[in-house]
Amino acid sequence: MSFPSFSGGQCYVESVALSEIARDFGTPCYVYSRAAIDAAFDEFADVLRGIDALVCYAIKANPGLAILDLFARKGAGFDIVSGGELERALAVGADPEKIVFSGVGKTADEMRFALNSGICCFNVESEPELDRLAGVAVGLDKKAPVSLRVNPDVDAGTHPYISTGLKENKFGVAFQDAQRLYRKAATLPGIEIRGIDCHIGSQILDPAPFFEALDKVLLLVDQLAADGIALRHIDLGGGFGIRYTVETEPPVASYLRPILERLRGRGLKLLLEPGRRLVGNAGLLLTRVEYLKTGGAKNFAVVDAAMNDLMRPALYGALHDIVLAAPDASNAARELREWEIVGPVCESGDFLGKSRTLSLAPGDLLAVLSAGAYGMSMSSNYNSRPRAAEVVVDGARAHLVRRRESIKTLYENESPLP
Ligand SMILES: *Cc1c(COP(=O)(O)O)cnc(C)c1O
Repeated sequence: MSFPSFSGGQCYVESVALSEIARDFGTPCYVYSRAAIDAAFDEFADVLRGIDALVCYAIKANPGLAILDLFARKGAGFDIVSGGELERALAVGADPEKIVFSGVGKTADEMRFALNSGICCFNVESEPELDRLAGVAVGLDKKAPVSLRVNPDVDAGTHPYISTGLKENKFGVAFQDAQRLYRKAATLPGIEIRGIDCHIGSQILDPAPFFEALDKVLLLVDQLAADGIALRHIDLGGGFGIRYTVETEPPVASYLRPILERLRGRGLKLLLEPGRRLVGNAGLLLTRVEYLKTGGAKNFAVVDAAMNDLMRPALYGALHDIVLAAPDASNAARELREWEIVGPVCESGDFLGKSRTLSLAPGDLLAVLSAGAYGMSMSSNYNSRPRAAEVVVDGARAHLVRRRESIKTLYENESPLP
């Protein structure tokens, strides 16, 4: 689907003009399309129809309750990385039996919460975590369902900060250690082995590393079977890439069909944990041009969104397309130049885009595209900036799903010394 679309010099999300959203809810504002979210999920569901599989949306990509609710209604499971994400999932009525818990630093409290909630599986990332989980489960007189997250040591061919499957990464247990740990897990009271898990990185645009990882993991599955350790599921994590600017986005089927081929006849349920692919291109960040600064070595368009709202350009040098969403009607004289699109935050790294050729005037609305994943979820209050409002568009209606923060809420947990 085309998202956003243009008509008569105006930019629309579904049938709502972004200028109306700015007028009603202010800027900066995250805007999501329900239809785009549905379509992204359906791309997985269509390939997996009739197959024993579960798509667990990785909440960290965008944890908004409205987004989680949309996925829960579509029957998705969830991949969580904290007790906070578990609370969010339960708050929208998610089925605990469809929740998997990833992450290298699970606390005993988080383990208790997840065990008492009856989640589907803990993706255990180290031996000490396995020991702690066994102890916590015994204390509750329960058995913790586990997969070990193994590190298959494949190069996902992505940015070093978002590549997780190499042996120098902090994630998962080393491949050579996995069999020993499974044998140990099989003897631990409080542990019930359910499956095996890997997640090799993010924004993966070449499906081949998935197949390489799966082939390695299946060798391990066979070794475990020879040890009498039978698994119910295999979780291949997330990491499916999206188009930001010039990338070619492989269809979901080109990742999944070869995977399903390899799993045929094995009786293993397939779990996936996509985040970015489900929401990244379903959201944009709407921002207004405050000032144009020209005459120096560079031309700056200072906008009202900043690195605290969308950190990816500053953090990874990530590229997002930026388009004119609505020209300011009171300003006829636009300047066609190459602009640095920067925010008000006091850091030179505070940019949303560099060298963008646009015809701009103060007051114009810009849309930073592909901002639905790791946008709002990584936002902060740096420079005492309240977090942006969030709006979900559904057909002709725009729903405010997160009010803009007030300054007061920023310091409500603080107090001066007595
Ligand atoms: C971040 C993460 C995901 C989601 O990654 P995407 O690239 O957004 O699909 C899935 N599983 C685990 C364990 C993760 O850490």
